[in-house]
Amino acid sequence: MGGMLAPGATIGILGGGQLGRMLALAAARLGYRCAIYCPETDSPAFDVAARHRCAAWDDMRALAGFAEEVDVVTFEFENVPLDTLLRLEKRVPVRPGPRSLACTQDRIEEKRFVAGLGIPVADFHAADDAPGLARALDALGGPAIAKTRRHGYDGKGQLRLAPGDDAAGAWRRLGGHPLAVERLVPFEREISILLARALDGRVAVWPAAENVHEGGILRRSAAPAVLPDKLARRAVDHATAIAGALGHVGVLAVEMFVVDGAPELLVNEIAPRVHNSGHWTMDGAWTCQFEQHVRAICGLPLGPCDARAPTRMENLIGEEIDAWPRLLAEPGARLHHYGKLEARPGRKMGHVNRVGRTS
Ligand code: AMP
Repeated sequence: MGGMLAPGATIGILGGGQLGRMLALAAARLGYRCAIYCPETDSPAFDVAARHRCAAWDDMRALAGFAEEVDVVTFEFENVPLDTLLRLEKRVPVRPGPRSLACTQDRIEEKRFVAGLGIPVADFHAADDAPGLARALDALGGPAIAKTRRHGYDGKGQLRLAPGDDAAGAWRRLGGHPLAVERLVPFEREISILLARALDGRVAVWPAAENVHEGGILRRSAAPAVLPDKLARRAVDHATAIAGALGHVGVLAVEMFVVDGAPELLVNEIAPRVHNSGHWTMDGAWTCQFEQHVRAICGLPLGPCDARAPTRMENLIGEEIDAWPRLLAEPGARLHHYGKLEARPGRKMGHVNRVGRTS
């Protein structure tokens, strides 16, 4: 297979959070080594990787050294500066490539890209200042959600608004950054499709997960989601079209809204990486998302994505991680502890997969 990296090769991972940690663990099981690059000193992925570099994203010497010691580079979150990826790409294969990163770093670009593929998204407007926000709210004419165009995650940088609300105050609360202002969708439920796209363009898709968010943070996912066949097929078609248009290599997640009575799905967000709503695959699918990502970026054949059993994933947020002794004793529960030392409120500390259960 052209471009295949055999076990023994070193995978460079940009970002040292729990996704990087679980990628490194999966890579180790397949015989690969990982080197983590991350500016934060207390990164959970450092504990489980062969090597790590703690340096700034624009530290040219550190990046050059990193490129020397790895055979392929991937990323575990989409806020890695594009320039970092472009520089690395001159020296070493980067998978997925900069196109996947660039498209998903900016919510407006992402929505234009998805809409340009003929895939429905919630009505949206860009706002570059407080008057622009007021105009966007008027144009939407109903409940809306304003999100910073860049660098938002886990509900951070988001505010629910309505026409006539204090736009200047909202603009300030959101930090004075350019915004994407969207119609608030009265969804019946949220789902995500995760797929992996290989170097040769082949795609493997997991069954859809149904997701529940609270305060913008994923609370739990259940898979396989029970969906009408037509909707399920459409969801897969949308995600496959997005991955293909990006020329994506690796795992990609597409979050979608199912709107009661509406024939269509609305795409909310693309993540060009392994994703929290795919954690159920670690215990509930024949190939877990982390292993599959490693397979894809190393040019190996993809594994089967079928569910082994219905599985429910619950995030352990903040002090919920203290329940670990009880979870270890619970039959059918599989605990994944991220090894983070400090349980701050809203911080994802671990998750538990309950195999054989969706409710
Ligand atoms: P996001 O950061 O875009 O993934 O948003 C986080 C969560 O906020 C979503 O999973 C939804 O639960 C909610 N949300 C985001 N955008 C909208 C919208 N346009 N309408 C309704 N709920 C939304």
